[in-house]
Amino acid sequence: MSEFLGPLAGFGVTFSTMFKKSNTEFYPEEKAPTAPRYHGRHQLNRYPDGLEKCIGCELCAWACPADAIYVEGADNTDTDRYSPGERYGRVYQINYLRCIGCGLCIEACPTRALTMTNDYEMVADNRTDLIYDKDRLLAPLQPGMQPPPHPMVPGATDDDYYRGTVPPIEGNHSGPAEEKPS
Ligand code: SF4
Ligand code: SF4
Repeated sequence: MSEFLGPLAGFGVTFSTMFKKSNTEFYPEEKAPTAPRYHGRHQLNRYPDGLEKCIGCELCAWACPADAIYVEGADNTDTDRYSPGERYGRVYQINYLRCIGCGLCIEACPTRALTMTNDYEMVADNRTDLIYDKDRLLAPLQPGMQPPPHPMVPGATDDDYYRGTVPPIEGNHSGPAEEKPS
């Protein structure tokens, strides 16, 4: 008897599904919003004057369980400054063929340089284009920001930048670069 009922039970799932309302998603024409804290593409953040928060310390790369991050730090100079303090991330790459979106890298970052956005549209028809460089990871310049290299705000130290106590920049009312929740 059970041999006879077994296939019927299997078809029961099919029959019950046939009468349910279909749930069709019209992506990419209609994009469903992600959860607010969705782990999407990373972003390298900036200070309110445009200097980069990344100091090239590589802690994110060491924290990554998938070995997806490659960082090369370099020294800032008074005439060639990309971030407050001594070092900046000269080369910064994330390999999205490897990344599993775990977020351990952003937990490891000491300056909140690295956060994650809700952008999930990372596609390419070749492997090379899924290795994102700084040009695709750096936060866009907001009004009032200057693209590095440029000096720190006069009178401010790298500690002031780190603590968020940099004196206001004349003519810049935009505040710090917006960080997405992570
Ligand atoms: S989200 Fe996880 S896997 Fe992706 S780069 Fe960061 S640490 Fe590596
Ligand atoms: S993103 Fe953060 S952890 Fe990674 S190298 Fe830059 S400062 Fe260091």
